Amino acid sequence: MCAFVLKGTFAHTPQIDGFQFLEDHFLVSDGEKIVGLFKNLPEQYKNLRLYDYTGKIIIPGMSDLHIHAPQYAFRGIGQNIEGSNWDSWFERYAFPDESRYMDLDYAGKAYERLANDLLKTPTTRLSMFATIHRPATELLMDILDKKGFGGYVGKVNMDRNSIEGLLESTEETLSETEKWINECSGKYGLIKPIITPRYIPSCTDEAMAGLSKLIEKYDLPVQSHLSEGLDEIEWVKSLKPEITCYGQGYDMYNMLGGKTKCIQAHCIFPTDEEFELISRRENLWVAHCADANLHSCGTSAPILKYIRAGVKVGLGSDSAGGSFINLFRVMWEAIIASKVHWAYTVRKNEPFVKKDFLSLANAFYLATKGGGSFFGNVGSFEAGYQCDAVVLDDSRLIDIIPRTTYERLERMISLSDDREIAAKFINGKKVL
Ligand code: FE
Repeated sequence: MCAFVLKGTFAHTPQIDGFQFLEDHFLVSDGEKIVGLFKNLPEQYKNLRLYDYTGKIIIPGMSDLHIHAPQYAFRGIGQNIEGSNWDSWFERYAFPDESRYMDLDYAGKAYERLANDLLKTPTTRLSMFATIHRPATELLMDILDKKGFGGYVGKVNMDRNSIEGLLESTEETLSETEKWINECSGKYGLIKPIITPRYIPSCTDEAMAGLSKLIEKYDLPVQSHLSEGLDEIEWVKSLKPEITCYGQGYDMYNMLGGKTKCIQAHCIFPTDEEFELISRRENLWVAHCADANLHSCGTSAPILKYIRAGVKVGLGSDSAGGSFINLFRVMWEAIIASKVHWAYTVRKNEPFVKKDFLSLANAFYLATKGGGSFFGNVGSFEAGYQCDAVVLDDSRLIDIIPRTTYERLERMISLSDDREIAAKFINGKKVL
């Protein structure tokens, strides 16, 4: 752990409703956490190593709460399958591609490429789905740890409704998961295990009950998918006729943020009962995957309604249901999705109704402090937060007249790519 100082213009959202900009400031880190931000560098820090990013904008690292590592290989394709039924995407892309991760050589190449590409995005923390394959899941954890990332990786559980090569028996899915937990415990730095039943249609009641015991025995968080598709909700009803809403099917196994920290991705179509249940669960984070949701069902989760009910919300790229792993793209899509949702549910034909959709600051908060809270004090430059920082260089994008810091940041969120990522720090370590 080696203390250091960053110099530049800092932008963050300590609250959801607005940015705080600190022009030409110094951030002091103890090598892991943030000590403070100062307009003038106090005398006692003047001998520390200084990274001078004058003229650049520095933002907190972003947290991707929902990403399928094996699906990155087919990113950008499969979103326009013609004449398809609802299952075509799984049958043609997701399941055959995931079954390839039985092959460790293939897994190593694919995961290395993903980790390298992720380094050149604003993401510093993540919660990832791997596949059912234990060795490839450990390989992914190792690769992410070596690049310096923090967060969680899950060996996926599937003991029904899958294809040959991507299906385990109930006994096998539970024993492999426990073996994996024991093998990876404490081994991969900031990368830790998370229990990951794919979703209710993929897991029998016996598997869910067994996983619930592992959550308790090893004190692990859990992640899954909830209410992503109308057809999926009907399927869950037919598989579990005894439950009155989809979320209850997780809640009965402590997989909805009751006692244990949990991420549920999507949550697009909650019934009134499910919304009520979600809003009462204090250990639940909703991963809002706006880009993937627009593609899969042409709509958005009621994200402002969740936020106003006090539900914790972060963003998820949902690669490759979403096309981008860069959370700037996902933020942008979240804003567009929120505008479309508002236009069709609130505005309708009213020309002068008050605008009410996600602002740039709201979306930035979700990508940083909102999602970051799943990992602890992450996603803000407040004192005591983990030092995750991304340095942005907008020299390629500037125009002739000067712009405000807000405008420069807005333009980087809408137009930048890997070329604008000048440096990156995760937990006080320079990783790029
Ligand atoms: Fe997903």
